[in-house]
Amino acid sequence: MKSFSFKPFFAILVLSFTLTIFGAVPGDDESKKRGFDLQNLDKSVSPAQDFYKYAVGGWVKNNPIPDDQTRWGAFTVLQEDNNKVLRKIVEEAAANQSWVKGSAKQKIGDFYATAMDSVRIEKLGYKPIVPELQKIDAIKGKNELVKHLATQYINGNSLIFGFGVGIDAKKSDVNAAYLSQGGLGLPDVEYYTKEDARSKEIREKYVQHIANMFQLIDVDKETASKNAERIMDVETKLAKISNTRLENRDPIKTYNKMAIDNLSNLSPNFDWKKYFDLIGVNMNVVIVRQPKFFSGLGQVFEEVSLDDWKLYFKWDLLRSSANALSSAFVNERFNFTGKFLTGAKVLQPRWKRMIQAVNGSMGELLGQIYVSEVFPPEAKERAKGIVANLLASMGESIKSNQWMSDDTKKQALVKLGTFGVKIGYPDKWKDYGELNIERDTYYKNLERVSIWATKDNLAKLGKPIDPTEWGMSPQTVNAYYSPTRNEIVFPAGILQPPFFNQKADDAINYGAMGAVIGHEISHGFDDQGRKYDEKGNIRDWWTKEDNDKFQGRAKKLIDEFNTFVVVDTFKVNGALTLGENIGDLGGLTVSFNAFKNTEQFKKNEPVDGFTPQQRFFLGWAQVWATNARDEALKLQVKTDVHSPSVQRVNGPLMNLPEFFEAFGVKPGDNMRNSDDKLVKIW
Ligand SMILES: [Zn+2]
Repeated sequence: MKSFSFKPFFAILVLSFTLTIFGAVPGDDESKKRGFDLQNLDKSVSPAQDFYKYAVGGWVKNNPIPDDQTRWGAFTVLQEDNNKVLRKIVEEAAANQSWVKGSAKQKIGDFYATAMDSVRIEKLGYKPIVPELQKIDAIKGKNELVKHLATQYINGNSLIFGFGVGIDAKKSDVNAAYLSQGGLGLPDVEYYTKEDARSKEIREKYVQHIANMFQLIDVDKETASKNAERIMDVETKLAKISNTRLENRDPIKTYNKMAIDNLSNLSPNFDWKKYFDLIGVNMNVVIVRQPKFFSGLGQVFEEVSLDDWKLYFKWDLLRSSANALSSAFVNERFNFTGKFLTGAKVLQPRWKRMIQAVNGSMGELLGQIYVSEVFPPEAKERAKGIVANLLASMGESIKSNQWMSDDTKKQALVKLGTFGVKIGYPDKWKDYGELNIERDTYYKNLERVSIWATKDNLAKLGKPIDPTEWGMSPQTVNAYYSPTRNEIVFPAGILQPPFFNQKADDAINYGAMGAVIGHEISHGFDDQGRKYDEKGNIRDWWTKEDNDKFQGRAKKLIDEFNTFVVVDTFKVNGALTLGENIGDLGGLTVSFNAFKNTEQFKKNEPVDGFTPQQRFFLGWAQVWATNARDEALKLQVKTDVHSPSVQRVNGPLMNLPEFFEAFGVKPGDNMRNSDDKLVKIW
């Protein structure tokens, strides 16, 4: 999935544990039609020294990043193409005011119309949040804090911590309640505490940003600066009791089922019973993802003064609603999150931002119309065929595995045999019947969406899971594996060139989409996914010996990726990106094996001067051709479980004998790990 996304307006806690493909393409016209454009190449570079540069160096030179983007590559190009399709849909919906009330087009149209009414939004300034600011001012004592948090929660705004309903990871046929750490405005907990230059700079700019925002609600400069310092203190306290991103990857340590009574022992200064009563949920147990956070929270709650909590709530309101207010707020927010943190030069045009808002608010309503226009049934059929070939290839890989015992292999095959597959769009669309949208103001519509989404999520508590549900909208250019559902999902958005090209040869499609599918399958057997069984429950099905062997192999991949320098002194974090790197290495391996069964591979006829085997790897490089801003890369290595594009292309290939053979890579070449460092897992 994408790198860090900033807290959206009234963020809803989403508890779907999914592992995605993207945390981030390409354009002699004849070769382009065949699926790989020869102009992408940079033949001045040897494929044995830097395959990424060789395969897509030409593309990288010829495709600078547009000013409103922080990175530019296959994913973003496709997203931009999608935006054009989506724009047409939302504009047509908004142009008509006589849709049947409650229909998809009425909701999309009215929402988009209010979102695009910049004259009205400008005129309102920060008026929409004035009632909320007043509510904060009206809090009289600390004994009223729990009530405030509960009321805000119902309105869709999780303060300080996250609460929500998701699949019980140890009883995966029902939904359970989860509590998780939260409350931070910076994209990573370590930015609050680390002493490196970038972390310090981020803290400094963040405090300034908070102060600037307070000035926008007519707080004088001096007070605004003081407020910012006090808010930073509160957030730092929360950061210190929070898990790191790496710790949060562990599904076992982040599964702590607790009776509500015990929760009160964990954070004694917080009235949990009252909180849950007020939000109207009735349950005996809750799964605490970070006990460290909740055991520290009681003390933080006590230490922070009422006035500081109030300032903190105001800040949370400001940052979560800024993009729904007038341009002063939007620009100030962009200066920090867009320009400073990710290096964008200019704000995206309003229509693009508002399409994202429609996507985030009612993705499947928009998706229904989208797929009817862009996703032919034939595309679904061909994709299904490739997925089936990939699953079969993974089965062969497990059977012929040299390091696992028969017992563990048997369990792995049971798990693989129950994989669910979803392609294109849901068989049953999400029900938006209870969501009311009016053509009044953008802010009100966002509030309606937030309230509805919270209610919709809470209604699942204790209920059996809905197997038809999707974790991504069909227009999303991404894919995921859900460990608790044990299923792989490929939205229509990613089933397009350069990932999946109906006109291209198999080599290109297996190198691109095949490897993406293999990547998602491999997530079921990566360092975390392997901790779940065939039903999606956390259960250890590994023998001790096989577990140790897996760890040994994984360690080599961590070490390899730890050596990669991304920008300046910023390196890839091998441990944080391990699951994704296993996914890429496994995905390429099983996809190449599946490709070997095709007619094209067997005939071995060159296309545009390249053998089918070579084209497979060119297809892989092509989907990751990317330009990214230094700021975005620095943020990515800190916050994203996906390695940057260059390393995603080269890192796994350094271990693949099929790649060495294809491009004559010799021992000692850059693109080939020495024999003692070669990694093979799947
Ligand atoms: Zn992934």
